[in-house]
Amino acid sequence: MGRAPFTFPEFTPGSVWLVGAGPGDPGLLTLIGRHALENADAIVYDALIDERLLDFTRPDTLLEYAGKRGGRPSPTQPDISNRLIELARAGHRVVRLKGGDPFVFGRGGEEALALAAAAVPFRVVPGVTAGIGGLAYAGIPVTHRDTNQVLALVTGHDAQGLLPEGINWAALARAAPVLVFYMAFRQLGAIAERLIAEGRSPDEPVAVVSKAARADQKVLVATLATAADALAASTIEPPAVVVVGAVVNYRQALDWLGRTPSSPAE
Ligand code: SAH
Repeated sequence: MGRAPFTFPEFTPGSVWLVGAGPGDPGLLTLIGRHALENADAIVYDALIDERLLDFTRPDTLLEYAGKRGGRPSPTQPDISNRLIELARAGHRVVRLKGGDPFVFGRGGEEALALAAAAVPFRVVPGVTAGIGGLAYAGIPVTHRDTNQVLALVTGHDAQGLLPEGINWAALARAAPVLVFYMAFRQLGAIAERLIAEGRSPDEPVAVVSKAARADQKVLVATLATAADALAASTIEPPAVVVVGAVVNYRQALDWLGRTPSSPAE
């Protein structure tokens, strides 16, 4: 008996697919994600995606940008959810294209809840998240048997842009040997101070991986004690993920991208 061939799920008119675009490199889009782009009637996309992905769409596909541009404020989350509902109710096959994975700090959960509440059928197409796949592009494995049995993905700021106080920092510092922070660029100093205050060694390695999996990826390696000053003195820009823990040391041996001719500048 032969194997049944793989077939893509049917993209029915009037439904919304929340698609993860991955952290940068367009090649990290999944096959279902590509299928979605090829068949979409409308795409609502975010600032963090590589716009070359839109080349996979048909020429007549409606493309809507849902981020900040030209000084104009970005649409609010309810605006975006309502727009998705409106496009679906107009009978379109709608793709909501988001950076990384739609369900990891991407408000994909909020959008899916709005779709569910409006009885709009939807599907989630996971993507490579910056805090895992982006670190792989810096030669940093997020787990290794010798270093950590736990990995924590943490948001570096709250709705006000401050260090999140909803986090139990003492428990986090003790429980997770490897911590990966999203949206932590401006709070790096406060995060490092807090982790040291809760018992982490000031000498613990930290990497800041900026524009991960893009042509202009940059990586800064420092320690908890030095990371904030080193970042301030560097030309590194957001978006960036910050990883704290012994796994950073593997980069010395595993920086496969830095060894290729197209190596981004360090
Ligand atoms: N859903 C996304 C995260 C969205 S929150 C995901 O799964 O990756 C936005 C944060 O993601 C940024 O502040 C940054 O911390 C991180 N991020 C997204 N793309 C990135 C990239 N290419 N390089 C480094 N960090 C990135």
